Amino acid sequence: MIKPQKNVSLKAYNTLGIDVQAAFFMLINNLQDLHDARDFCRLQGCPWLLIGGGSNLVLTQDFVGLVMLMAMSKLDWTSHTDGLEVCAESGCEWDALVAESVTRGASGLENLSLIPGQVGAAPIQNIGAYGVEVKQSLRWVDVFDFNTGSCFKLTAKACEFGYRDSIFKRQPHWIVMRVNLQLGHRVAGNKPAQLSYGIIAHTIESMTGQPPEAATGQQIRDAVIHIRQSKLPDPKQLPNVGSFFKNPIVSAHQTAKIEQQWPELVAYKLEEGGFKLAAGWLIDQLGWKGYSQDGVGVHQLQALVLVATGAAVTGGEVLALAQRIQADVLARFDVVLDIEPRLFDSRGEFWLS
Ligand SMILES: Cc1cc2nc3c(=O)[nH]c(=O)nc-3n(C[C@H](O)[C@H](O)[C@H](O)COP(=O)(O)OP(=O)(O)OC[C@H]3O[C@@H](n4cnc5c(N)ncnc54)[C@H](O)[C@@H]3O)c2cc1C
Repeated sequence: MIKPQKNVSLKAYNTLGIDVQAAFFMLINNLQDLHDARDFCRLQGCPWLLIGGGSNLVLTQDFVGLVMLMAMSKLDWTSHTDGLEVCAESGCEWDALVAESVTRGASGLENLSLIPGQVGAAPIQNIGAYGVEVKQSLRWVDVFDFNTGSCFKLTAKACEFGYRDSIFKRQPHWIVMRVNLQLGHRVAGNKPAQLSYGIIAHTIESMTGQPPEAATGQQIRDAVIHIRQSKLPDPKQLPNVGSFFKNPIVSAHQTAKIEQQWPELVAYKLEEGGFKLAAGWLIDQLGWKGYSQDGVGVHQLQALVLVATGAAVTGGEVLALAQRIQADVLARFDVVLDIEPRLFDSRGEFWLS
């Protein structure tokens, strides 16, 4: 029987730097550790929580059960005539994987550069940036079912990916152990789809002096990193969890209604119908950007990002600010903003109504 550490601070394990304690804590280095952790929780009758890089969660209370930190981190690359395949264990750092894919001449992940966190968390909310989502490269994942102790493979289709969504949000007892990605060989001269975001193309041009179509994978990655560093706070300097709200999807009728009063509304027409509104723009119009009080605030350059400016901020304080913003956006635009990070109290995940 394993003996997890007791009463461990989780401050270093979440990018908001919230200082709550885990009653029990252990690293997961292999499948046997998962079985042992499961046996421990069943014997103790206690809840469990798996943490990766802690960059997409808000901890609001001391956790009464076992917190597991994913540390399985083997990487296996295979070259095929039509591209590269990588099989990565969940504890690998996501951006290190992206960097290596670029060095190896593979295409597909450049736009997802500099997203914090681990590989295993990437499918959970189907991470995305600048017109690319991980679902476009993912072929399958290996899963451990914490309820039954069984292991199985899930194809990309079975992951039910959506915008910041996957089946894993509906099956929280499924732990991703390994992710398989299929990447292409970069072919210079072909205009890759991921240059469709104007800001990427403009940045490449201004950084290289060349047309974006000729960009190497490294140049695309450099441009993405440059853009992200210029407008997103580094959690090590200013604790945050990236975008705090999802971009809301609303009907064409509602979009037109808002545009009557706010003609500058930033809205993207969706192929499947309706519009995706830029949540950051909505929040910005209401004057929240740069707001700061009692150690929590809204980032000066990006209204979607809530930041912990004080040393002893609690998850509850961050959520209180998020709720004020949600209420304001609802009152002024009649739009519901959903929270993007996962919320945890002393026994597990909860949702704000
Ligand atoms: C500055 C900044 C910028 C960001 N930019 C983006 C962005 O552009 N696009 C984007 O999509 N996200 C972005 N994020 C959010 C975040 O980085 C991603 O969601 C990331 O995938 C979270 O990884 P993590 O390892 O930190 O997950 P954690 O925060 O540790 O966990 C998040 C959730 O996933 C679960 N989980 C973690 N690992 C596993 C696993 N192996 N199996 C099952 N469940 C698991 C956890 O239990 C938790 O519920 C950003 C965050 C920050 C701080």
